[in-house]
Amino acid sequence: MTNSRRILKEVFGYSDFRPLQKDIISHIINGEDALVLMPTGGGKSMCFQIPALVMDGMCIVVSPLISLMKDQVGSLKACGVKAEFIHGSLDFSEQQNILNGALNGKIKLLYMSPERFIQSDIHDLIYNGNINLLAIDEAHCISVWGHDFRPEYASIGKIKKHKPDLPIIALTATADEITRDDILEKLYIKDKENIFLASFDRPNIHFSVEPGQQKFKRIKAFIEERPDSSGIIYCLSRKETERLANKLQGSGIDAQAFHAGMSFATKEKIQDDFISDRCQIICATIAFGMGIDKPNVRWVIHHNLPKNIENYFQEVGRAGRDGLDAEALLLYSYSDMLLWKKINQESTQKELLDAKLNRVFDYAEASICRRKILLNYFNESSESDCGNCDVCENPPHIFDGTLISQKALSALKRSRESVGGNVLIQVLRGSYNAEVMERGLHEIPTFGLGKEHSFYQWQHYLLQMIQLGLIEPKYKDRNNLKVCELGNQVLFKNKKVNLVTYEEKERKEVVKKQKRKPEKKTLFDLLRARRLQLANKEGIPAYMVFGDASLKDMETAMPITMDDLAHISGVGTVKLEKYGKDFIEVIQAYYKELKGKGDSFKHSCALFQEGKSLEEIAQIRNIKEVTVISHLAAGIQKGMKLQVQDLVSEVEKQIIADAFVRLDKPKAMKPVFEDLNMEYSYTKIRLALAFVLDEV
Ligand SMILES: [Zn+2]
Repeated sequence: MTNSRRILKEVFGYSDFRPLQKDIISHIINGEDALVLMPTGGGKSMCFQIPALVMDGMCIVVSPLISLMKDQVGSLKACGVKAEFIHGSLDFSEQQNILNGALNGKIKLLYMSPERFIQSDIHDLIYNGNINLLAIDEAHCISVWGHDFRPEYASIGKIKKHKPDLPIIALTATADEITRDDILEKLYIKDKENIFLASFDRPNIHFSVEPGQQKFKRIKAFIEERPDSSGIIYCLSRKETERLANKLQGSGIDAQAFHAGMSFATKEKIQDDFISDRCQIICATIAFGMGIDKPNVRWVIHHNLPKNIENYFQEVGRAGRDGLDAEALLLYSYSDMLLWKKINQESTQKELLDAKLNRVFDYAEASICRRKILLNYFNESSESDCGNCDVCENPPHIFDGTLISQKALSALKRSRESVGGNVLIQVLRGSYNAEVMERGLHEIPTFGLGKEHSFYQWQHYLLQMIQLGLIEPKYKDRNNLKVCELGNQVLFKNKKVNLVTYEEKERKEVVKKQKRKPEKKTLFDLLRARRLQLANKEGIPAYMVFGDASLKDMETAMPITMDDLAHISGVGTVKLEKYGKDFIEVIQAYYKELKGKGDSFKHSCALFQEGKSLEEIAQIRNIKEVTVISHLAAGIQKGMKLQVQDLVSEVEKQIIADAFVRLDKPKAMKPVFEDLNMEYSYTKIRLALAFVLDEV
């Protein structure tokens, strides 16, 4: 294991393995087979890359998509690993060169498609070359039960008959039990002990769901609250992607449409621009994302309801692969539901599809932690609420909706069940529009009985009534609504109905927060700019230089020597040598600026970051120590990441903050000091409160 750990640090720049990685790696190095189920972003590829580098010989990696191979090989090369990929678009001599290199031990990882793998020259390589491992990525493609079955994949396992000692590792992010068993069988992997099942939880992703009303306005506001962050918006149709991208462009937002109907070259260019941070937002059909491995997608919006939880989870999984905070927002509406039900109606698997769609609805309408529902879907139970979803943060308010439901049901009966949702709402709200008047619906007794609720509120309630089985859209009759048996019980027998309130989101607060954002560039911005420069010069995606997580680490630790920089996560030996000086230069310049002109507090903070003690800073600057402390506090309040844990610990911070809140946030420090029995110095209190005040 020491070798694996050394490679993890030296090559990839990480000090610790992620959960399960260590077990899988030593299992493989011991010559065993493995089936690995890990969510996207869980660190799957390290599970074969590290054994391949530790062991003598070369690893063959079978992967279904050229773009995925290109990304992985590019990332490996950037870390100084000898990796190549062989594919049909290379000419004969290029392919020969690579194969020769492989035979002569000049390559450690060789990527190829399943189609290429089954050709005879590769078989020769496997028999005559020094192959230490066969890795099969996206292994669900092996199974007809998996959602992307590829016939060539199914025959890969035959190699095991001829080379029984060659360890095989199969990896996937999506495989239910039936697919899992099928993969084991097709690859001749016998023991169930060879299955490694990682948690599917992605704790860094925040989940939220909102009724999809005024979608464009909502999406625009969402993007404006998150300037410069990469995101994907999933739409149902090609047309929708284009329409949305155009509208966003019209509002000055950097967005591109992407769908399967575009030419190969156009798609390639858009993907490249997105990966390299030259395009901020992609509006896509589900076709987008499978072949890309961009770690810093900060958010995913579903413009429409997805058809099942599997698809939804895979799509949101494209956010936050670097482990930093990310968001998933789902917008859903009445019309989405009608559309899916209609599509399902025409399928031979109607019942299965409807059942899956209902689970999506349960998720969208949830009144319990959304993460619990998702994990439960994948047979993983979670005891506590996650605290990182909209339900946990803001539990929905359930109320007695019997009267509201009765109004709708009665209006529907009086309209002879010959209206769809929109007309029904107009009747309930008492709108004298053409259709209502023409059909004489303004004369029925329930006309205008639901005036007190807005159009959107009614949409929200009707959707719930459908979900509860009170009413049902008749697809063969222009989606007109019909009262179900349960609806009759509510209307005539006063059966109680619970509904969830509809709250129109208040966005003012967020806008205010945005305005507080300093116009000045942060160190992170400066590091990002330098990264882009370096990446453009080499023609590689920015994340291949360093990930966002590494830049965030640099911003916090502010290393100014190569030794310090080597401790930053994601900084391996090759990258340190190649890029280290550039990044240190940026950090030093930032330092200088802090110390130079500018505010006095910045000067003190910069000295503190250099490792000077309070006493030393006071001496250098000829000020009192108490002034130095107030400078540090000011720095913290302005968002500087100062390492003050030696002066005040996390626990102490919490105790002081609690007292501050308990005392109703006094203006002076003395009440806090006294409340805590004078056990905490004014220095600790001053610094701890800087964090609290920062958050207010
Ligand atoms: Zn939750």
